[in-house]
Amino acid sequence: MPRKHTDTQLSTTCCYCGVGCGVLLNKEKNGTVSLQGNKDHPVNKGALCSKGLNLHHTVNDKSDRLLYPQMRYNKSMPMQRVSWDEALNRTAAVFKTFINKYGPDSVAFYASGQCLTEEYYVVNKLLKGFIGSNNIDTNSRLCMSSAVAAYKLALGEDSVPLCYEDIELADLFFVTGANPAWCHPILWRRVEAHKAANPNVKIIVVDPRATDTVSVADLHLQINPGTDITLNHAIGRVLIENGDIDLDFVTNHAEGFEAYSKLVFEKTVNEAARICGVSEADIMLAAKYIGEAKGFISMWTMGLNQSAIGVNKNLSLINLNLITGHIGKPGSGPLSLTGQPNAMGGREVGGLANLLPAHRDLSNPVHREEVQKFWGGTTINPKPGLSATEMFAALNDGKLKAIWIMCTNPLTSMPNVRLVEEALKKAKFVVVQEITNKSQCLEYADVILPAAAWAEKEGTMTNSERRISYLNKVLDAPGEALPDAEIICRFARKMGYKGFDFKDNAAIYAEHAKLTAKTNIDISGLSYEILKERKTVQWPYKKKSAPGGTPRLFTDRKFYTPTQKARIHAVPDALTSEQPNGDYPFILTTGRIRDQWHTMSKTGKVNKLNQHYAEAFVEIHPADAERLKIKEGDVTVITSRRGSVQVKAKISAQIKKGVIFLPMHWGKILGSDLNRANNVTSDLVDPISKEPDFKYCAVQVAKFKKP
Ligand code: SF4
Repeated sequence: MPRKHTDTQLSTTCCYCGVGCGVLLNKEKNGTVSLQGNKDHPVNKGALCSKGLNLHHTVNDKSDRLLYPQMRYNKSMPMQRVSWDEALNRTAAVFKTFINKYGPDSVAFYASGQCLTEEYYVVNKLLKGFIGSNNIDTNSRLCMSSAVAAYKLALGEDSVPLCYEDIELADLFFVTGANPAWCHPILWRRVEAHKAANPNVKIIVVDPRATDTVSVADLHLQINPGTDITLNHAIGRVLIENGDIDLDFVTNHAEGFEAYSKLVFEKTVNEAARICGVSEADIMLAAKYIGEAKGFISMWTMGLNQSAIGVNKNLSLINLNLITGHIGKPGSGPLSLTGQPNAMGGREVGGLANLLPAHRDLSNPVHREEVQKFWGGTTINPKPGLSATEMFAALNDGKLKAIWIMCTNPLTSMPNVRLVEEALKKAKFVVVQEITNKSQCLEYADVILPAAAWAEKEGTMTNSERRISYLNKVLDAPGEALPDAEIICRFARKMGYKGFDFKDNAAIYAEHAKLTAKTNIDISGLSYEILKERKTVQWPYKKKSAPGGTPRLFTDRKFYTPTQKARIHAVPDALTSEQPNGDYPFILTTGRIRDQWHTMSKTGKVNKLNQHYAEAFVEIHPADAERLKIKEGDVTVITSRRGSVQVKAKISAQIKKGVIFLPMHWGKILGSDLNRANNVTSDLVDPISKEPDFKYCAVQVAKFKKP
């Protein structure tokens, strides 16, 4: 039904997944907003998924908003309302005390891939440039860091080479470790529409579960969890055997092919098929489809990233694009689907514990000096900061004294979450910067800072295809809530640091853009003025860039490595995850459902979205359920070496035998901790990316018995 509009209609971008759909927000006379998809937006052309369509409810409902700063002097006291000055003065005093006594690495910030680029920029500048610690990490560590490391190793830079327009130019989609039909719906609708209009288009889906994405696939490789590298190597072997590789590319534009081809021939396709739990014929068919493709896009997300061997999984997949030369040309390339709306923007400003702005390297003394001179602050510490899991471990060890949690909910989203609870109990000082009163972290806070929500602040975000978009401020934040960048800048000034007196967000963006000059992600030609006029552009965007920026990278087949050649990596396929045994015989994998977003602090507020699945569940194969005498809807207890959850059984032949699935969203926000998947998950991480192994751990399953 058409919505009733007022004169006030402003464009913004959906703040859920990394697809980055354009939204028009209508400011209604009663102070609320309504919304619709933006027909002129190149990403979604007016379409929105169920989550996007209900975004306005999350800001119209202000019943759970934090309205003013609060503080307490010890954890047994109740929180008291205080002024912004009181809250920030005390926080600055405590931070200064710890920094003076224990050094700058005694404090840390844990932020979010939902922060705007400007917010990311100032908090990164504060920590790395002025406090002198690299202890700033974000929940993007739980999402994209394996892809970031793999792009860098393979292409010389954390850079997605293609754009969404390539979807309509491709004839083969290899979707692995992803369920875009539910998690990136609008992007997936483009793939489905393209296939519907072009019957020659093929889709291969690799997933231990037969998800909705599989329903349109020509081939489903239902592999055993964790066997992705073996599968990709076997496909690589068949491509080589069939002569379906791009010899010019592997000879002149890539290095490492010799070692790779030796490695992939170490296992026969039959052996690989047995390990992966699929047929040899299906591996051959997948290779045939890839070999015949004129445009081949590989797509992936958490199934590859959230793994103890996540970087190698990514590299084994990117290899398939490299050996076939399907990169840097229309309709081809490796497309990592970003889980969060601005994980890419966060990386642009160096918002992880091992990065510097504009994808500079912390380990590079020239890069450190460039940034230090530009900021005019302290010498940049060469030691990487604590990653997400390391941060909470350091609180548990007492090495870290203070943590500032900025717009994220680690007490639902972190693996082996009981350790995070212990860590926050032990922390000497906890600042929680949040939008609503639902976050469980508030229980542990010494200071609570109320933040403005989506639509209540302006800024920018970058989606999965390097598209930077401008988000308008449409509403005033309630009470005394402030935009996150403003909070960080006020705190930095309380600490006595110069360089945080920005006139507005445009000034923050201008500084960020200037710092990218002459780097591979150069956006020095970009400003708020241009973004407001063009709405979106793709980086790089140099001074004389085309109006829309740069849709594709590596079209000249020159990569960002020292040799300008892409690197084919011969990576081992050994799985290092916790293995099942007699006591813990099942493999647990976790993931998202269609209508919820992360820890449900926003989507959980919307009745319509809660109707899809009203409560957490465990998906289990009928044969396993029968053996355990579990019926549909029975309460089950899932136990690992770390903890347990109690959820109802959903019996489904769509999952492999011996594997169970838990949705990751539930936690204390909507119910009790008993349904929180991360009570059980493993905090093992990839040794390079430090991304946790959410997709694989050993558990036992039993029907719940009343004590
Ligand atoms: Fe928002 Fe992603 Fe849905 Fe688009 S696909 S409306 S960005 S959640």
